[in-house]
Amino acid sequence: MPIACAGFRPAISARTEGEPLPAGVTDTELDAHLSQCRDCNRWARHLRALRAATDDLLHRRPRRGVTPPPTPM
Ligand SMILES: [Zn+2]
Repeated sequence: MPIACAGFRPAISARTEGEPLPAGVTDTELDAHLSQCRDCNRWARHLRALRAATDDLLHRRPRRGVTPPPTPM
């Protein structure tokens, strides 16, 4: 993985989770990188698919003793 990508992966993950981007990466930079990097695009899709599958699983079978975070409106 190119070094540039390694720097953007945490930001992609944060965006997928709906969290603020890590310090040092702006939305503009992330968009610019995603517009030219196929690897990161594929990874972002993978993350979203994984997250969707996890949400689905949690909704069907909540884990004991774990309270799911409230769904943002
Ligand atoms: Zn990349």
